[in-house]
Amino acid sequence: MELMLYDTYERKLRPFEPLQPGKAGLYACGPTVYDYAHIGNLRTYLFGDILRRVLALNGYEVAHVLCITDVGHLTSDADTGEDKMEKGSRRTSQSAWDIAEFYTRAFQHDLAQLHIQAPGVWARATEHIQEQIAFIADIERNGYTYRTADGIYFDTQRLERYGHLARLNIAGQQSGHRVDIRDKRSATDFALWKFSGPEQRQMEWDSPWGRGFPGWHIECSAMSTRYLGALFDIHIGGEDHIPVHHTNEIAQHEACHSHPPARYWLHGAFLKLEGSDKMSKSDGSFLRLAALGDRDYDPLAYRYLVLSAHYRSPLAFSWHALDAAQTALGRLRQAYHRLPDGGQADAGYRQAMQAELNQDLNTARVLALMWELLKSRLPGDVQKATLRWLDQVLGLGLDAWAPPRHAIPEPIRGLAAARDLARSERRWADADATRLAIEAAGYTVRDTAAGTIVEPR
Ligand code: AMP
Ligand code: ZN
Repeated sequence: MELMLYDTYERKLRPFEPLQPGKAGLYACGPTVYDYAHIGNLRTYLFGDILRRVLALNGYEVAHVLCITDVGHLTSDADTGEDKMEKGSRRTSQSAWDIAEFYTRAFQHDLAQLHIQAPGVWARATEHIQEQIAFIADIERNGYTYRTADGIYFDTQRLERYGHLARLNIAGQQSGHRVDIRDKRSATDFALWKFSGPEQRQMEWDSPWGRGFPGWHIECSAMSTRYLGALFDIHIGGEDHIPVHHTNEIAQHEACHSHPPARYWLHGAFLKLEGSDKMSKSDGSFLRLAALGDRDYDPLAYRYLVLSAHYRSPLAFSWHALDAAQTALGRLRQAYHRLPDGGQADAGYRQAMQAELNQDLNTARVLALMWELLKSRLPGDVQKATLRWLDQVLGLGLDAWAPPRHAIPEPIRGLAAARDLARSERRWADADATRLAIEAAGYTVRDTAAGTIVEPR
């Protein structure tokens, strides 16, 4: 079955054809670790996780590299403002190195809570400074750089196809005089290496151009090449990366290799807060995964909510929507748990579900099919096996879930024990009476080899 992916570079759905049979190289831009991730950021990594799992479902061995930006990302995308890491350091009174470590771990913890599979390589920018310097030196050798008072810049006018990914209207940008271009030759030019300046920086390195630090975009060019080669399969990130970050990564790569680094470019749409047009770290709309936990939401309810929208559609977050997702997830878990084991996944549903996933990761349609399956006349064990197969991609951990024990009050557990005793003594009338009493209290009763199992209805 063909896997169709929407490629932003070509602006169309394209069948996935790997460079090497059976393998897929996947590079994902990651967080700038100067603060916690918000749930909007996490939507983007959930999209990456679904893509990775769908590739695996299609039999590909995925080499997944996720970058950690721990230096060089300035507060403005136009190469002005402060370095986000140094700024975060000032805010927390800890060293830039310490906050990078702290927020990287917090990020990894969030990913694990959402069942996002860890990448094969966590690529940290500060651990690849020499690769970045070498990449800049190649760009310089090919004549695409110039020097200003504050750094080495990429000369975007030298590239005919600059901005193709974003379909940038370069002429329009040049004439927009509101853009502060400082010493740059052109508004779209960007820093490859920035000089340290008079203030002592915490993160700085020697280079052929002087002491300083790399620009934000060069880390991804250097690290994707280091781990996946000069041409790899798929590059992903949030949709905000289209006009600047990925556009500049492509420019850097073309200056060295005459082609973009990846053959497919996929972008996830933003999560918005209902009633607001964005979610940002600065305007108070910042919601961490932990904040959902504080209100007793399961992190996987957020995963379910994200699965319910297509990754290229905007998704509006509201507590109401999260409630609905948590309720649906609860129902799904109960239903799965009650179904008997021992069956084989149904070929028809497998086929139909994979067809939806292979149509540019249509998780919303797959959830609809999943509920249809649960209402179908297929035997329970077949339904369960089909759900287990699907959960490889949904990642909801259905098998690992068990009803929380404390949710069953003591008197009900006492009735269940009495029922077990009655059954073992073949007092069937007593066993039936206890069943009715338990059900009348709002619980369901299931007989298993291990005894009576009582679950909230
Ligand atoms: P940052 O840590 O700011 O570099 O962002 C990390 C990732 O989150 C990037 O890939 C962004 O594209 C993505 N991102 C930022 N805001 C949102 C949002 N509201 N919804 C979805 N993804 C986002
Ligand atoms: Zn990147």
